[in-house]
Amino acid sequence: LEFLKEKILSNGQAIDEHILKVDSFLNHQVEPLLMQKIGKEFALHFLKEKITKVATIESSGIAPALFTALELNVPLVILKKQPSKILNNDFCQTEVKSFTKGNTYNLTVSKKYINSNDHVLFIDDFLAYGEAALGALRLFEKLSAKPCGIGIVIEKSFQPGRTKLNELNIPIYSLAKIKKMTKGNIIFND
Ligand code: 5GP
Repeated sequence: LEFLKEKILSNGQAIDEHILKVDSFLNHQVEPLLMQKIGKEFALHFLKEKITKVATIESSGIAPALFTALELNVPLVILKKQPSKILNNDFCQTEVKSFTKGNTYNLTVSKKYINSNDHVLFIDDFLAYGEAALGALRLFEKLSAKPCGIGIVIEKSFQPGRTKLNELNIPIYSLAKIKKMTKGNIIFND
């Protein structure tokens, strides 16, 4: 997507070879018009999948996911990052390791909000090592919901997430794919 690539080039900051800061339009300050365009693009792409719920992980996936849910006219479910395990049958949990943040959390969702009738579209801001997306997919499997698509705003194609997710045969749509980064320099795949 050209408008997103231009935004990343003008406002993104590759702080080293691994991490891209997008605090000015996606993660800290959020640009609604950009999020709206992103939502429309995901919604159009996954329209034929008969999505019943959009799901994302708190907090930086919420903005693009909410605009996608608005376009598809379905609810957004925010998967929570709990520090500890919940011993309660009303919730479903799975442990996720974050390589970026160097921590572990329990991805949590109430069984009230996703069930076996759901066709779920997972949306996130970044795809890096793929652990967040894989955690979300484990939750959908536990809830017997059908994962129908994965929408990623920025894929760092040089990290292993994409290869891991490709094995699952779920449609993946990344709006911007980064081939390589060095401090202050970003190169896209195409
Ligand atoms: P994973 O490694 O599990 O694919 O990435 C998980 C999460 O880490 C993403 O949802 C995103 O919030 C965060 N993340 C990964 N790489 C980056 C990055 O380069 N920049 C920012 N701002 N967040 C990232």
